[in-house]
Amino acid sequence: MASRIIPVEDFDLIIFGATGDLARRKILPGLLRRFIAGQMPPGARIVGSARTDMDADTFRADIRAAVAEYDPARADHPELDRFLSVIDYVPLDANEPGGWDRLRAALRPGVIRAAYFSVAPGLFGALARGMAEHGLADGDTRIVVEKPFGHDLASARALNAMLSGHFSEGQIYRIDHYLGKETVQNLMAVRFANILFEPLWNAHSVDHVQITVAETVGVAGRGDYYDKAGAMRDMVQNHLLQLLCMIAMEPPYHFDPDAVRDEKLKVLRALTPVDPGDIVRGQYRAGGDVPGYAADVGHSSRTESFVALKVRLANWRWQGTPFYLRTGKRLRARASEIAVVFRTPPHSIFDAAEPPQANELVIRLQPDEGIDLKVMIKEPGPGGMRLVQVPLDMSFAEALGEDGAELPDAYERLIMDVIRGNQTLFMRGDEVETAWAWTDPIVAAWEAGAERPQPYDAGSAGPEAAAELMRRDGRRWRGIAEVRTG
Ligand code: NAP
Repeated sequence: MASRIIPVEDFDLIIFGATGDLARRKILPGLLRRFIAGQMPPGARIVGSARTDMDADTFRADIRAAVAEYDPARADHPELDRFLSVIDYVPLDANEPGGWDRLRAALRPGVIRAAYFSVAPGLFGALARGMAEHGLADGDTRIVVEKPFGHDLASARALNAMLSGHFSEGQIYRIDHYLGKETVQNLMAVRFANILFEPLWNAHSVDHVQITVAETVGVAGRGDYYDKAGAMRDMVQNHLLQLLCMIAMEPPYHFDPDAVRDEKLKVLRALTPVDPGDIVRGQYRAGGDVPGYAADVGHSSRTESFVALKVRLANWRWQGTPFYLRTGKRLRARASEIAVVFRTPPHSIFDAAEPPQANELVIRLQPDEGIDLKVMIKEPGPGGMRLVQVPLDMSFAEALGEDGAELPDAYERLIMDVIRGNQTLFMRGDEVETAWAWTDPIVAAWEAGAERPQPYDAGSAGPEAAAELMRRDGRRWRGIAEVRTG
């Protein structure tokens, strides 16, 4: 089943921060893939911008180098030169008045205009103001804002207020690339386009939900930023809560941006304050050749590189079903997944030595996106009725990519959604603020206390206390290494 490519309308896309890591690693290679796929109309233009003073040819050479580094399979693609020919570059310092007129001259009136703010959040305000003051912010212009969106409720509110001074909510696309993953959208399809799951999607049938985002990398290279944020602000407040919303939300009346986001907002509002005993903070320590967190950030620190917590939702559907979230750096494998663990059947008619195990719906976000449904079957062969649990595997790359096509990366998909004017997979301002309102007291309590995060070994599943958080409830985490590594 080859995927259908529906071209978007003609557009001009400005990438502020075009020389930065995100632009070179994700945004520009992603746009190249959309160009090759035929989704970008022939007239579409991309204008890179940053302070570095260079001409368009030098910028194009840098993109060629970035493609060679981050998407080598396309480094010699016959379409690469044609892609580079639609790219321009305008040097500009967001904090200075110069350069804006040149930028305006590089853009066309009458086509969709979008600007990707791939810069440090401290520059979002200057860019929004600069665009407005120089006639680049008409009623149809869209801006894409990267994370982090604030570092607490007050700063997120200030940022929302500042952006809304120049752009309406319908023009602001707050990106969370987890929402751009094929699997996350498939989760919506699985829930709302099938009759099978939704009747069971509640506390009567679901024992608990686990959401894991495990990384193998440490914080070296990002230490300055990370040490001020920590796992709670960097991952839980945005990515993990967004995934929780997709799992826990009520069916929206329509697959429409505000209908979906209204339902997500209700989930965030239903989050109850977390009992301090239901949170485990960890920090990776040195081991073997791997430096510890303190060496990576250059000083002793109380910032957590791991957090596990048990979260509850105060609403009818989920009363009695806990959601366990965990995320961390330097863990055993790079793996993100959501596991919906159902209850066991109320009565087993089979041999008591082999009671049926609970069904699990495992939604894998990375490394290989797909969904497994674990079901009990009879072990094949003679010898009586023995039960065995097997996965019904739906790996999207295999199911959809018979022509060898890859799944689009989350960034590619989300940028095309911006051009289409579809905000469904972007966070609304009130969602971000509500998520911070829940996160703030947790972080404030840590900052007020003297406790240090618990040390854990690189390559482990985090501190032992995280395993205990589950064990004391008679449950266990799925092993991080159980997640397939492609
Ligand atoms: P980066 O590598 O530091 O790049 C920053 C970009 O901003 C550079 O192109 C820089 O170019 C430009 N810039 C700096 N000061 C400027 C100014 N005064 N006026 C205009 N341009 C300026 O950062 P990044 O890693 O690409 O991250 C960009 C944004 O994405 C950040 O908000 C980050 O939190 C977010 N993000 C990044 C990643 C990632 O994987 N990298 C992941 C998630 C979110 P010049 O020095 O030439 O001006």
